[in-house]
Amino acid sequence: MVHLTTSIQILNQPDFIIKENSWLAKIAAWKLKSDAVAMVLGKTIHLHNTTETDFLKDERWLKHELCHIKQFKEHGYFLFVVKYLWESVRKGYYNNRFEVEARNAEDL
Ligand SMILES: [Zn+2]
Repeated sequence: MVHLTTSIQILNQPDFIIKENSWLAKIAAWKLKSDAVAMVLGKTIHLHNTTETDFLKDERWLKHELCHIKQFKEHGYFLFVVKYLWESVRKGYYNNRFEVEARNAEDL
């Protein structure tokens, strides 16, 4: 079951929606062999194994995912998905330039 919980506006960031218990994030968690996962599609942050409260408390994690929302906005939904997957195939998840940019955004 997917819970649509909140929509928040932060400074100049576009507003976003958080979905807890997302099956998409569950698949990503399994793929990445990772425990708690947040993944962005468009303006929605899909969460698995974490709560909205814990996610929002983690400033670096939030900044990382907000950067992906910005990327979706910059490239457009469809093109971004294509570019992201292409980067992942060529360079792998970690060296994917969109992940590199998002990791750098954690320190901003
Ligand atoms: Zn990321």
